[in-house]
Amino acid sequence: MLLRRVGPRWPLPKRFPVFLQPQQRLRPQTQLRNCSSCPPEQATPKPPPPDHRDLGTQQELFTTSFYSPGSAIFLPNGARIFNRLVDFLRKQYVRHGFQEVITPTIYKKALWAKSGHLENYAEDMYTVTSTSPSRAEVTEAGEEDEYGLKPMNCPGHCLIFASQLRSYRDLPIRYADFSPLHRNEISGALSGLTRVRRFHQDDGHIFCRPLQIEEEIRKTLEFIRLTYGVFRLGSYRLALSTRPERYMGDLEDWEQAENALKRALDASGQPWTINEGDGAFYGPKIDIVLKDSDGKEHQTATIQLDFQLPKRFNLEYMAPAPLLEKRGETTTDPELLAHYGPVAPVMIHRAVLGSVERLMALLIEHYNGKWPFWLNPRQAVIVTVNDTEPVVKWAQHTRNVLLGIDSDVDAPVSPTNFGAVDVDESTRPLSKKIMEAKAKGYGVIAVIGLRDVAAGTIMVDATSFAPADASEEEKKKLKGLKMTPEELLDFMKKKVTAYA
Ligand SMILES: [Zn+2]
Repeated sequence: MLLRRVGPRWPLPKRFPVFLQPQQRLRPQTQLRNCSSCPPEQATPKPPPPDHRDLGTQQELFTTSFYSPGSAIFLPNGARIFNRLVDFLRKQYVRHGFQEVITPTIYKKALWAKSGHLENYAEDMYTVTSTSPSRAEVTEAGEEDEYGLKPMNCPGHCLIFASQLRSYRDLPIRYADFSPLHRNEISGALSGLTRVRRFHQDDGHIFCRPLQIEEEIRKTLEFIRLTYGVFRLGSYRLALSTRPERYMGDLEDWEQAENALKRALDASGQPWTINEGDGAFYGPKIDIVLKDSDGKEHQTATIQLDFQLPKRFNLEYMAPAPLLEKRGETTTDPELLAHYGPVAPVMIHRAVLGSVERLMALLIEHYNGKWPFWLNPRQAVIVTVNDTEPVVKWAQHTRNVLLGIDSDVDAPVSPTNFGAVDVDESTRPLSKKIMEAKAKGYGVIAVIGLRDVAAGTIMVDATSFAPADASEEEKKKLKGLKMTPEELLDFMKKKVTAYA
């Protein structure tokens, strides 16, 4: 692979479809200094705000390597969180009508020329060539084909739309894609999960009729509201960016789209602001800006309307009364309805989490290591009172029940998705083992002694589920829950289903 940096051909990158460049560290590193002229009480340093890079190391979530700068290496704990976030989205897609697709990582230069990336975005892309001339594809002109590593999924989704004849009845069509994307960030700026070269988006593209824009935006805003409610990330504001000075397309298209966005924003019932002239050159957009506990703002989700890419790819669907259809208008006139013609769909780029890596960084700092159970990479540990054979056997049986692998049947297992259930059967004192389990942040701590083996139960400490303002009595109730392994499994499943 060749790393090629080409100078900018014109200063457009900011306006080009950047769709969430995962940049900027979330918070500046706090420098703590003692000042000799300050009275001693003022010199007491405030604890630094959580930094996802430090927590990522402490909790064994991810690492990085000199051999692939800017590409996070997710360790088992981090991979669990990553997969649960993606899994969460997949579940929501069932309701929101998105169909997942799997698309190539490299495309020929010709595709990037068609999409406009070569012209506008080349400096942020990687070129891929074959190192073996005998395997290179040679074009008619005798040149070797060069490929580009994809920085975005949009052109690939346009190819899918174009692969079939489409009718107005088929629309809206919503594609989702979790492909890894690569963007050639400057090496000096790379850091943690926020300044990266490889990342994943919960990317989605909606191909819709002009008259469906408002409804699709409204649904996407609703999707975003529900998702951020689950993460308990606090308030966010919506910002509409309108037509810039330099734009492509018809003024009429722009006005129609901006008005549809404004109506959808009003209908959302949430406060929103306008960034006049800050839209992309191909269409207006809505950005979701989150405010963290320190008041610092982070852009996460995005919704962008695009009239240009469908035209570049000659996308069309057949509709009655095509001239009215294009303007987002309907008619009952049978004469007009009898005439069918091609109309270009409107494309909506949207990401709810944005970059999964970037959102993870935000969540790591927001929860400061105290994960909600459904995302917790350390969900349960079984601690034995001693290491006698019946106790250890019962602990292992309990672990198998929680993992869903407790079956002697000669058939594939149906795991419970609790991938991380640990057993501590060491001979150390019980109090020490429990203290360590709490320090590691396990959501459920199950204790097993000889009496539990006889009773077929386990003693569960679920105090991590107590709300922050819980009384001592309420906490006590969650401390000594006597359950069978199956009851504990049911308890854990309910917590996960409720995103607790
Ligand atoms: Zn896109």
